[in-house]
Amino acid sequence: MAEDNKQAITVGFIGLGRMGRGMASNLCRKGFSLVVYDINSKAVQELVKLGAQGGKSIAEASKDVDVIITMLPNSAIVQEAVTGPDGILAHARAGAIVMDMSTVDPQVTDHLADAAKKKGLSFVDAPVGRLASHADRGESLFMVGAAALDFERVKPLLEAMGSTIHHCGVIGTGTRTKLVNNYLAVVSCQLNAEALTLSQRFGLSLEKTLDVIYGTTATNGQLKIAWPEKVLKGDITPGFTIDLAHKDLTLIMEAANSVKAPMPIGAAAREAYSTARARGFGQNDFSAMLDAWCDVSGTEKARLKS
Ligand code: NAD
Repeated sequence: MAEDNKQAITVGFIGLGRMGRGMASNLCRKGFSLVVYDINSKAVQELVKLGAQGGKSIAEASKDVDVIITMLPNSAIVQEAVTGPDGILAHARAGAIVMDMSTVDPQVTDHLADAAKKKGLSFVDAPVGRLASHADRGESLFMVGAAALDFERVKPLLEAMGSTIHHCGVIGTGTRTKLVNNYLAVVSCQLNAEALTLSQRFGLSLEKTLDVIYGTTATNGQLKIAWPEKVLKGDITPGFTIDLAHKDLTLIMEAANSVKAPMPIGAAAREAYSTARARGFGQNDFSAMLDAWCDVSGTEKARLKS
């Protein structure tokens, strides 16, 4: 249930998917007034149960609020939601802040910030780190690109949705930092998948292999923290899907190209994700790259015994 003490900042929240529903729920519970919108009306109803006002359009979630948050799948959808003919900029009041928390192309972030400025609005990019389960618990990490004053204005919202907030610098630095972070997170899943598939092909004990790796510098956060709670125990429900990880690697390769930063391992990993999607794994959690690679190699799925 929402707390009684209403917070001063009013919020429009657009995009109530795996991430957005947890984030918006935490804002509701902590007493912020929310107007929410998603093309999926069931997702809107879930938030209405928590005390949010249900919006029927982007326009309804954008007018008469202080901050409009977008948590949408990709660059094209965010761009349409912000600058489209019936989008946020067409309806928000002057002085409001548009805070995009999706993972998008940094050039789209820069473009949206310019468009917002021309309409007398501020823009903040604040993409989200950690897992969907963290978003549900209000324990996300945020990478924020914002002018100093705008950062102070959105900080109470970020504190209500997460536990770690990094002000990375000016507009656009949040999105760019997110791409650097996700490069490692997404590529390391493919590395882990290949290594554990090799272990399976050798006929080694999965438990013993992991015991060894966890004790050396070969380990990584996916393998040690995320995977034991996901694919290794047979839970491949998303989380963060292989489709979204593929989208991020594509964004990363394009953004890296634009600044002439070669990413040869990224290019190979992106095509490994393409292979997983082609084999029907796209809607699984990205830890299921392990299942995809066992499938490619004709090996039994790797699962912990207990
Ligand atoms: P999702 O697909 O679960 O949710 C997206 C939501 O947007 C859906 O509810 C969909 O109905 C809604 N939507 C789509 N088009 C819309 C429109 N035009 N208007 C209103 N609503 C619309 O995705 P997600 O996992 O919540 O991810 C959202 C963003 O956050 C992505 O950019 C993703 O890369 C990023 N992200 C995801 C995770 C994760 O673990 N899932 C973690 C960090 C960042």
